[in-house]
Amino acid sequence: MEFTDTIVILRVGKFREADIWVRFLSPTLGVASAFAFGASRSRRRFPGCLDALNEVLARIKRTRDGSCLNLEEGTLLNGPRRLRVDWRRLGLAANCMKFIEAFGIGQDGAAKAYALCKEVLAALEEAGSVSCHFPLFFRLRLASEQGYAPELDACQLCGRPLAGRGGFFQVQSGGMRCSTCPSGGFCVTMGAEALELLRIIKEKTPLAWPHEFSGRQVREQCARAVEGFIQYHVGLVWEHGYFRRV
Ligand SMILES: [Zn+2]
Repeated sequence: MEFTDTIVILRVGKFREADIWVRFLSPTLGVASAFAFGASRSRRRFPGCLDALNEVLARIKRTRDGSCLNLEEGTLLNGPRRLRVDWRRLGLAANCMKFIEAFGIGQDGAAKAYALCKEVLAALEEAGSVSCHFPLFFRLRLASEQGYAPELDACQLCGRPLAGRGGFFQVQSGGMRCSTCPSGGFCVTMGAEALELLRIIKEKTPLAWPHEFSGRQVREQCARAVEGFIQYHVGLVWEHGYFRRV
């Protein structure tokens, strides 16, 4: 069976002399892999396509037994420019792509993940300034959209609204508690500013994510809450440049 699909390339590797394998995200398949046989020799079939972060219109063939995908041809739709020369931004993008891969997006969440991936690449390409916490923000946002959305508006026990107040983020339940309710389990103190930051990440387009926020405390609170949440609910920890399943 042959079909065309738009894909964003997450990672590319070589196997044998002329052949390439591609790990990609598609809006229909989610994260998948395909082989591009002879791609190292045939520039004509994949002109300027087979690089990480490129968006490609791909002609894909499923093998007869359905077990493998072969990339037959590709046309470049979108390729980053700034990210190719700005190593800091490229590093942030690579971290986000690794998370997509480790998360293991299936067909159900594919369309949403694809839309977010494109928004994130556009933001890293176009934003005047980007926070070094961008990948952390991205983890929260992707997890939120894939069914693990934390509840940040009100205390999950008494219902008190928390905007402008802050409280405790309870990692296991993925919800907030106010300062007067019991805060058992693994809780992270969240000041009003840190809580507002997480709400922005959860709701606004990546281009509007803050790149500056006052104080180390805000950053630390956000990082502890997001890392704890991702570890507990998604089962992934960032360690030595890779995501490890726990
Ligand atoms: Zn409460």
